[in-house]
Amino acid sequence: MRKISYRVRPETAVLTRGFDPKLSVGSARPPVYRSSTFVFPSPEAAERAFGIVLGKIHPLGDDRPDLIYARLNHPNAEILEQQLVPLERGANSAAVFNSGMAAIFTVMLAFLERGGSLIYTQPLYGGSQHLIHQIIEPLGFDARGVPAGNGRALTEAIEQANNLSLVLIETPANPTLMMTDIAQAAAAVRRHPKRPLLAVDNTLLGPTFQHPLIHGADLAIYSATKFLGGFSDLLAGAVLATDAELIETLTGVRALLGNILQADECWMLDSRLSTVALRMNRQSKNAQRIAEQLARHPRVKRLIYPSLFTDDAQIKIRDAQTDYPGSLMSLEVEGGKTGAFEFLRRLKIAKNAVSLGGVETLVCHPMTTTHSELSPEEFSAAGITDALVRISVGTEHWRDLLDEFTRALA
Ligand SMILES: *Cc1c(COP(=O)(O)O)cnc(C)c1O
Repeated sequence: MRKISYRVRPETAVLTRGFDPKLSVGSARPPVYRSSTFVFPSPEAAERAFGIVLGKIHPLGDDRPDLIYARLNHPNAEILEQQLVPLERGANSAAVFNSGMAAIFTVMLAFLERGGSLIYTQPLYGGSQHLIHQIIEPLGFDARGVPAGNGRALTEAIEQANNLSLVLIETPANPTLMMTDIAQAAAAVRRHPKRPLLAVDNTLLGPTFQHPLIHGADLAIYSATKFLGGFSDLLAGAVLATDAELIETLTGVRALLGNILQADECWMLDSRLSTVALRMNRQSKNAQRIAEQLARHPRVKRLIYPSLFTDDAQIKIRDAQTDYPGSLMSLEVEGGKTGAFEFLRRLKIAKNAVSLGGVETLVCHPMTTTHSELSPEEFSAAGITDALVRISVGTEHWRDLLDEFTRALA
């Protein structure tokens, strides 16, 4: 394939970069390179490859080092990483991991300095919250949670933290879709004398509808298990950055932890990238139509969906940093937990499962599943009640889904 020297748009780039069929007997799709180790053309090349990995030799420009061993790097990871970059506006480099949690943990381990502290928005994804309480804090790092959506509290927390290394924002927060202002946090970390890094977990609206790097975030983190994977059949994670050196630091730590995404998963995931915008747009349109109808249903007490926000501050953040409302909604049904469980029991098309972002509609009861470890105070702070169900809308026909939800509510 001739290298395209001019700039193409993301939908084109994702199908034309990262892989040269000439290197694989003309195969139109990349093969899966399952090798754990790679043969050097000469002992000198082996010496040079190790010199580059250990930072003794600095290659110039496009000169890529020979592959050594699959825990460090392998062709399918390189292909996937190059194809991910055009999907994230502002990104120059990417690293893939064997789950979203692996990506988040590696970011923390790589960038929390000795004696350093972490600030994060609450609620966080349950796994991230456990990671902080069960591993990061016991390791001696100070971690402080700030309510999602409270820009002033976040700015103050950043200003007052002494040895701040990292700020982690999850926006919108799950399951209440509370949004946090990325640009405001980006300004605060830039004013801080230690210049902590700002990482945004962009799983819920990225890469199609929200672009943290152009709002000043340093790292965009993904559970690629969700929209990027799209079919609820693989686990993967990714981190993207404008500054390629940050990604190099991460891949260095990844090589030691051994949590690079394996070749088969890379191959599956790269085949999903060209449809992520198609799927997300369809899912968002479906969700918007359903949300607008369900919001008027007499048995729905409250419906949370970005295009139906009523809070001025939230609307301002939504309009500044998101392009479309996405496919997640939460609703409070009549009858508390009993009402919510009855709703779940009556579903036939939608599946009662955690996770999100797949082409099939998934519904869960956050208080007893994904968020069951929260304390009563944390539930009320996060606005999670026993009547709340979360819906991740898929690509089914929206009328079938609306009929189903209306029937389940009756
Ligand atoms: C699912 C999820 C994660 C964790 O990702 P895994 O791929 O399950 O490890 C992290 N953050 C958010 C927002 C998620 O939805």
